[in-house]
Amino acid sequence: MKRLEQDSISIVSRDISMTYGDQKVLDLPGSVTIPEGLTVIQGSSGSGKSTWLNIMAGFVAPTNGEMQHVNNQQESLYSNKQNPGYLKRVMALVAQRLLVQTRAEAKESRYRSESMGYIRQQPALHPELSLEKYIRLVHEVRGSQPDGDYISSLIGQLGLSSLLGKKPRELSGGEEQRGAIVAALAHEPQIVLADEPTSALDHANKRNTMSILRDRANSGATVVVVSHDSVALDYADRIIRVDSGVIVKE
Ligand code: ADP
Ligand code: MG
Repeated sequence: MKRLEQDSISIVSRDISMTYGDQKVLDLPGSVTIPEGLTVIQGSSGSGKSTWLNIMAGFVAPTNGEMQHVNNQQESLYSNKQNPGYLKRVMALVAQRLLVQTRAEAKESRYRSESMGYIRQQPALHPELSLEKYIRLVHEVRGSQPDGDYISSLIGQLGLSSLLGKKPRELSGGEEQRGAIVAALAHEPQIVLADEPTSALDHANKRNTMSILRDRANSGATVVVVSHDSVALDYADRIIRVDSGVIVKE
């Protein structure tokens, strides 16, 4: 795929914390930078891994602090924080009333669809669409023109060639997860966020998936994999271990 000349992107978390009710589920004081390459975030269930990944993706705002995607020149490409400031809130409200996107919102939205790929822990393809149609639909929504050869190679590596005409109810959990991986990566995103991408897969497909993610990292992408699968560790440039919402080892 032709892409804008893009340098590497780092994901920076600054004094991030997340509280639900009176439970602090994530607490990352100071600045934590995830550079390009493949980072695995490890930790037991409930330790805050998905919460952090969802903040990186911009799905939820942190209770405190700010998450940013920054390029080599330290320019912010995407930011996620609570209460983005009075002026920005007023602008957003006015824009909402007028049903228009502010220029900043349009830029962020373009950044998200062009540069990010998110692999969910529980994939949910569209129940009425075949795998092939689903992958095509994702591209239409993104407005991307993916490289057909790259998609074919993903489909081949993940053993999906004979399954493209099937709908989710005709697929196993692992096949659906592999389909979701193709849809998330086919536009060759510069940022890949994957939440337990290998959880439903057999050993061979765990390795195939991790080597696909490794290839993305080798082409300069910033890949973050949340996993408690030991297979993932073999492919990592760095490992961050979290426990009860705090980093215990980096
Ligand atoms: P992990 O991915 O490491 O298993 P999560 O980030 O999903 O952990 O969850 C961390 C903690 O936050 C858990 O105790 C979970 O119950 C809680 N939690 C996550 N999301 C919510 C939510 N939307 N509302 C309330 N509590 C939540
Ligand atoms: Mg999780």
